[in-house]
Amino acid sequence: MFARILSGEIPGEIVRETDRVFVLRDIAPQAPVHLLVIPKTEDYANVVELAAGDPALLAEMVGLGAELAGGDFRLVFNTGEDAGQTVFHVHAHVLAGDLSEGSLVDR
Ligand code: AMP
Repeated sequence: MFARILSGEIPGEIVRETDRVFVLRDIAPQAPVHLLVIPKTEDYANVVELAAGDPALLAEMVGLGAELAGGDFRLVFNTGEDAGQTVFHVHAHVLAGDLSEGSLVDR
């Protein structure tokens, strides 16, 4: 699904793109800033696979998320259906701004 947004097949607000990573504004924000940092490759379903397979790519995602958060932030990787993961193309949720109401844990 995220790959189809990147290709323009379905709409989405892409706020940043590098050679290997793109950043999408979450369609259902749970904080004033809610971005999804996504590798272009679909090879990794979750952060555990990504950390094992391409730690440099994971590090790039973290760095980009930090840059775009523009201050303190929460970084969430839902991992597995029971943890609330719905899209099995690894992505980092970057949550920033007032986080007192926003929590991905409750979903
Ligand atoms: P997860 O539940 O961790 O797999 O996260 C999937 C995220 O993708 C959710 O926060 C959704 O709100 C978000 N999402 C689903 N469809 C879109 C879309 N078309 N554009 C932007 N974000 C989306």
